[in-house]
Amino acid sequence: MKSQDKEDLSTNFIRNVINKDISAGKHTSIKTRFPPEPNGYLHIGHAKSICLNFGTAIDYDGSCNLRFDDTNPAKEDIEYVNSIKKDVEWLGFSWGGEVKFSSSYFDIFYKCAEELISKGLAYVCFLSSDETRTYRGTLKESGKNSPYRETSIKENLVLFRKMKARGFKEGECVLRAKIDMSSSFMCMRDPTLYRIQFKAHHQTNDDWCIYPMYDFAHCLGDAIEGITHSICTLEFQDNRRIYDWTLENLDNFNTINRPHQYEFSRLNLEYTTTSKRKLKLLVDENHVNSWNDPRMPTISGLRRRGYTPASIRDFSARIGVSKVNSLTDISILESSIRDDLNNSAPRSMAVIRPIKLVIENYPKGEIESLKVPVHSQNEEMGTREIFFSREIYIDKNDFNELAPNNKYKRLAINKEVRLRNSYVVKATHFDNDKDGNVEIVYCTYDSETLGKNPSDGRKVKGVIHFVESSRALSAEFRIYDRLFLESNPTNFDDLSSSINPNSLEIKNGFIEPSLSNAKAEEAYQFEREGYFCRDSESEGLVFNKTVGLKDTWSQ
Ligand code: ATP
Ligand code: MG
Repeated sequence: MKSQDKEDLSTNFIRNVINKDISAGKHTSIKTRFPPEPNGYLHIGHAKSICLNFGTAIDYDGSCNLRFDDTNPAKEDIEYVNSIKKDVEWLGFSWGGEVKFSSSYFDIFYKCAEELISKGLAYVCFLSSDETRTYRGTLKESGKNSPYRETSIKENLVLFRKMKARGFKEGECVLRAKIDMSSSFMCMRDPTLYRIQFKAHHQTNDDWCIYPMYDFAHCLGDAIEGITHSICTLEFQDNRRIYDWTLENLDNFNTINRPHQYEFSRLNLEYTTTSKRKLKLLVDENHVNSWNDPRMPTISGLRRRGYTPASIRDFSARIGVSKVNSLTDISILESSIRDDLNNSAPRSMAVIRPIKLVIENYPKGEIESLKVPVHSQNEEMGTREIFFSREIYIDKNDFNELAPNNKYKRLAINKEVRLRNSYVVKATHFDNDKDGNVEIVYCTYDSETLGKNPSDGRKVKGVIHFVESSRALSAEFRIYDRLFLESNPTNFDDLSSSINPNSLEIKNGFIEPSLSNAKAEEAYQFEREGYFCRDSESEGLVFNKTVGLKDTWSQ
């Protein structure tokens, strides 16, 4: 991705702020960050944030840090750190310098906390969590000062050092900012800055038993790294007060070009969830197979499903950035991938619900090799070899004994249809299996119709796809539907009633031999069926359906 002229960019409110800051001489270069907490896999909502943060940096020839906000060892894991790095790179972005970790600033955070205590702006509080809640008050009623609020600075320094030195039990006390218990912003009512947790940390092991809260660590991390614009989601709107309060009260960080926080609306996507906690629940309760299950809205799930980085970046651009929360139509994501794959995906034929078609006037034992285009609108993609013989597979849905109406364009008794890339055939009769389902259809072919219309002017309107039977490879097709039954799922207490029981359908059919070496996660268009890619986690020929050829949601 190249940087573009600033003037060319479609604007959004964040760019407006940046343009103003640059004209005012506040910043000469722009630095953003993407700050995931390594407590789950990234999802499509994170992709929006990634495209915004990295994209903005690219647009202004600046840089964007990848910083792990790793201040809660209880929920974090190195598995998540690794998957997040992989996903950001896969989306096509590179971070400035080394990967950053909030935990590498723990010493600085600690010194900042002591500075606040020394200024009489923080105190160690021994209220229980229930008491703290009662003291905090409500939106209508102001809170009450903690009895520990007036402890002397000297005493507070001693207590805080004792917290750090494992002198207290987990939960026995916390360090709180001394701000305003009657603030109309609940987050300003003496928020917690540090808490005790006797948990080994994936980066700092047992070095610390006190861990900073998000509101304290985040603004400091931004300031330490020289972030200019700290972009986050709307839930943090109120917390901007504590962000500013913290930096303004610390000598080293209260500077004219210190970072500022800006909020945009998070992505909510129809028929799924973008809450890491709820996604984790889906995995833990086995409603899906893993974080990268192709039904999951995770980046790894989308990748395994056949989504491309370009399609996800395109989706982010299409939905834009705003300050209004809304539910985004799933068809926007699907049209992004469809538009990308329509141009780039090689074409192939796969029969997903196979029945046999026997061409009775075709010589027994003969097999024909045909060279056909990989992409009919793009000759440069070359040709592939397919086969034709007396016995081929067609899709069950492409045959009806009687054409249901005049518009019917598939195969029926006494009707002609073209087999894609080859001949015109006419069905004559068929056999059922013991359950009464069509098993074998018999037909004749017109040997003069390879790549041309019948010479006597007969019009053959329909085209169906097929795979020659002796060279066909057996394959499994995994066909996905929306994960949740409701467009805006709300019931997460009983997932079994809100999850679509048919979100995965498995079919066994056949593919062309040219697909024997199909690479995982690389998309093909199976003609007339949709876009598919080989599954990266399965041994054999297993294909995931990425998306259908047309938008079928709205029908
Ligand atoms: P948690 O509840 O675990 O904090 P989170 O969704 O906030 O989950 P983070 O790892 O803290 O996850 O998120 C990293 C960044 O991605 C944050 O800046 C966050 O605002 C942004 N982000 C998270 N979810 C979305 C979303 N649905 N749409 C846009 N941005 C998001
Ligand atoms: Mg978060």
